[in-house]
Amino acid sequence: MHYLSKFFILFCLIFNSSCAEKLTDVVAEKYKDTEKRAEITKQNNQVARQFGKYTEQPTIWSEVKTPAKGHPQSIGGYSNGCQVGAIELSKIGIGYYDIRRYRHRFFSQPSTISVIQNIGHELDKKYAEQILLGDLSQPIGGLMSYAHVSHQNGLDADIYFATIKRGTTPDDDYEAPAVVDKATGKMKLELWKPQYRDALFTAANNSEVTRIFVNPIIKKHLCDTEKDTSWLKKIRPWGGHTAHFHLRVRCPINNSLCNNQAAVPPGDGCNKELVNWIERQRIDTLNPKPKVKDTSPPLRPTPPAACLDLLKNK
Ligand SMILES: [Zn+2]
Repeated sequence: MHYLSKFFILFCLIFNSSCAEKLTDVVAEKYKDTEKRAEITKQNNQVARQFGKYTEQPTIWSEVKTPAKGHPQSIGGYSNGCQVGAIELSKIGIGYYDIRRYRHRFFSQPSTISVIQNIGHELDKKYAEQILLGDLSQPIGGLMSYAHVSHQNGLDADIYFATIKRGTTPDDDYEAPAVVDKATGKMKLELWKPQYRDALFTAANNSEVTRIFVNPIIKKHLCDTEKDTSWLKKIRPWGGHTAHFHLRVRCPINNSLCNNQAAVPPGDGCNKELVNWIERQRIDTLNPKPKVKDTSPPLRPTPPAACLDLLKNK
């Protein structure tokens, strides 16, 4: 932890002062910001508060509206990084439709976009349908002001368990329903389509993809219904992810500043731990713990130097 951050936590505890403001100053200083950037940081604080869950470190990354020019490059890690030369994903493509464009999170590295196109082609060919897309990354990546900690280096993408007929237009704010019931630990099979299985299968078989996060109930369903479970190795159980899956792509070749995640463990992951996870999730859903109101922003690691340079030049 940065020593200044430690100091301010102590300061907040002793004097019960406006921690968010103080921390904003620390972040601004840390990022070697101009006054304008410090002001943006404060604005982002307010936005985060409006969303009613102050889970975000103030972010100045979301204020950058255009990609950084240059050869495409992913820098840093999935949860602490940025990107150069990001490509803008088109709103409508073969087999996909990107919604909520106002969030301005449709920028990615070319390899991520090609995985999405790969999934789209499969759905178009087999079903004449388009799958709905959620967030990719911001123009230069970095931490978002809400909803994600990862998606920072242009190698993560969210894809809804929702498809539309080819050529139709979805509601831009469509909320895909959860395909699982956490309280019973069971799938909502009436909402589950072979299209979703095929999208996961296509993604898992793409050599660029390293992980795909889904709710453990979905993983268990695949374990129970697939003849060959070897491809399920990349399908990783994770909290949430009940209405979408999250795909993660490896660091592109020759991106020396990009940090890959450790390889997934061997085996298909269809094991007792998966069953236990579903049970824990079931118990937690039936006995929700009272929410502890935490108004302090969590501390995030300092971004890689190359990312701070990118920010300075924007
Ligand atoms: Zn995601």
